[in-house]
Amino acid sequence: MGFNSHFADLPTTIFEVMSGLARTHEAINLGQGFPDSQGPEALRRLACDGLMTGSNQYPPMLGLPALRAAVAAHYGIHQGLSLSPEQVVVTSGATEALAASFLALLSPGDEVIVLDPAYDAYRPLIARAGGIARTISLKPPHWQLDLAAIEAAITVKTRAIVLNNPMNPTGRSFSHLELMGLAKLCQDHDLIAICDEVWEHVRLTDQPHRSLLGLPGMTDRTVKIGSAGKMFGVTGWKVGFVCAAPEIAKVIGKAHQFLTFTTPPHLQGAVAQGLGWDKVWFDEQAQGYKAAYQLLRSGLKEQGFHVLDSEATYFMCLDLQQSNIDRPALDFCFEAVKTHGVAAIPLQSLYEKPEEAPPIIRLCFAKQEAVLRQAIERLARARLAMLR
Ligand code: PMP
Ligand code: GLN
Repeated sequence: MGFNSHFADLPTTIFEVMSGLARTHEAINLGQGFPDSQGPEALRRLACDGLMTGSNQYPPMLGLPALRAAVAAHYGIHQGLSLSPEQVVVTSGATEALAASFLALLSPGDEVIVLDPAYDAYRPLIARAGGIARTISLKPPHWQLDLAAIEAAITVKTRAIVLNNPMNPTGRSFSHLELMGLAKLCQDHDLIAICDEVWEHVRLTDQPHRSLLGLPGMTDRTVKIGSAGKMFGVTGWKVGFVCAAPEIAKVIGKAHQFLTFTTPPHLQGAVAQGLGWDKVWFDEQAQGYKAAYQLLRSGLKEQGFHVLDSEATYFMCLDLQQSNIDRPALDFCFEAVKTHGVAAIPLQSLYEKPEEAPPIIRLCFAKQEAVLRQAIERLARARLAMLR
């Protein structure tokens, strides 16, 4: 039987490829972003209780009322946003939230601005929704929003911009000034901002997270996407949420109804309660990530690596060229995982034009101290084996 599929030419995601190699070679996996812990016991207990004593049948399509209310309240307390539960749609992870947003908001031929290096799901999902991604690359080491380049890329067909803030893989948290500039562009050119804010709670500085949704003039044109997987360090849970103005939330809900329709009720119930935990819990969790970041950062610097600064996310970047390493990022990563027992992500896999990507790799530091110390030794050996 012959058939054509739009997906046939898509590569398998670099996260899956590197995790597969890490398993095969029994390497330390600093590639795909996930903590090497089980997640908060109290949250898992709540999910367990929900599974045994609560309903295991379809919950309401737009999410458990308790979770929709908890998301709205959480963002009120933590980010000063004024949301009602009707503005929240619960999805099966941020990935589904992104897919539902593109499907609901794009018409064939609409252009969408994407900032490289970009989370790898954006471009294929935009294309499947009939949209055309227009890419602007941010430049290391500061990865600043290039507002002039963004404005120059806007045409009459531009419908939306995707803003990943804080940004994976760069670890950048955009400044108030940059966000204000972007908000102005969205208003001047009548664009929707699709804001992927899954890393909002994984903060490595004292700066609070600021959502574009809270800026003047943006409430009716911003889609804010969150993920309990990142908020609580349980990436396999795939409980996400979209917050938007009621008319936008309504159409995203219509797209969601034919994607997954709903999300496991016991996980939703546990997340609803977790979102109500004291701010201190979230601050302490962030402190733990910060300590891990500092450990890996200082250890690798001592070994001669050039480390770029991160402000948020589980990730930090290394510049190979400035670390005196004589390999393209993908080659370095293959050799590091196969020969030296440590997996990383080459940034080129997150660029539309990999050949234009800087020679940078991404490491996930959300790991136990002993694991990070061993990873430092292995990366140091990899560097020495590939020195210029
Ligand atoms: N967006 C970004 C920027 C991510 O880093 C991730 C995963 N880490 C996702 C979306 C997907 O989140 P989820 O697992 O909730 O689908
Ligand atoms: N978001 C995770 C990362 O950036 C990976 C998610 C996935 O594997 N799809 O590592």
